[in-house]
Amino acid sequence: MTTLKITDLHVKVKEEPEHPEILKGVNLTVSTGEIHALMGPNGNGKSTLAETIMGNPKYLVTQGDITIDGESIKDLGVDERARAGLFLGMQYPAEIAGVTNAEFIRAAINARRPEDDQISIMKFLKELDAAMDFLKMPEDMADRYLNQGFSGGEKKRNEILQMMMIKPKFGLLDEIDSGLDIDALRIVANGVNKMRSPEFGTLMITHYQRLLDYIVPDFVHVMKDGEIIETGGAELAKELEKTGYEHLKAGDANA
Ligand code: ADP
Ligand code: MG
Ligand code: MG
Repeated sequence: MTTLKITDLHVKVKEEPEHPEILKGVNLTVSTGEIHALMGPNGNGKSTLAETIMGNPKYLVTQGDITIDGESIKDLGVDERARAGLFLGMQYPAEIAGVTNAEFIRAAINARRPEDDQISIMKFLKELDAAMDFLKMPEDMADRYLNQGFSGGEKKRNEILQMMMIKPKFGLLDEIDSGLDIDALRIVANGVNKMRSPEFGTLMITHYQRLLDYIVPDFVHVMKDGEIIETGGAELAKELEKTGYEHLKAGDANA
């Protein structure tokens, strides 16, 4: 088992150090084998948490730590964190001109492997084919430039394809359900469920119970104003759908 631990994490936007903190002391432990959902109203720090864990240089950690099995990753670059087993599926995936989807994924896999143990083209193509079949993606998407001209739904599906191929220890998934129709949602959820294993953990940011009907989480957390104010099991998300977030306030998690 591998454990990703976030301790008393305080975060600011690096270029606006005079602004108040976005994250104000986040504590969260995600182990492989576990699915965590992170919910909460807009603009309260969920994406900031995911980006900070992945090492987006826009964000400055002013206090606290992020560790994997006790080793701090707080000062590592994005590439090193990827090699340490982290993967971020983004709310707004980037488009990259001149690099095909397949090239991008193969490079990402190989960057995480030692130089004398790169994946062979044959093995890669076989796995890619199987994963694309599973996600019901048209074959030509492998040869199109990364995310260019992909619809919103195709981009999300592609994030899951990348994750299935890269096989990270931890998948940070930021609103992979936004803008998906029900069939695409089911396919994306199938992809995440296929990854479920003792070697894989995920922190899944979502607004909707709907996704959690397909991917049943072990833990549900609510973030409000830069803190996790409530943690529960899958039933918490169902409750929130009825009651909303309004009645929750900081401090409730410790009550
Ligand atoms: P959520 O994902 O919960 O909707 P975010 O983490 O995106 O919330 O944003 C939390 C707050 O931090 C918002 O007020 C947002 O405007 C601010 N924020 C996040 N990233 C930046 C940034 N790069 N520059 C300025 N403000 C930011
Ligand atoms: Mg906030
Ligand atoms: Mg967000």
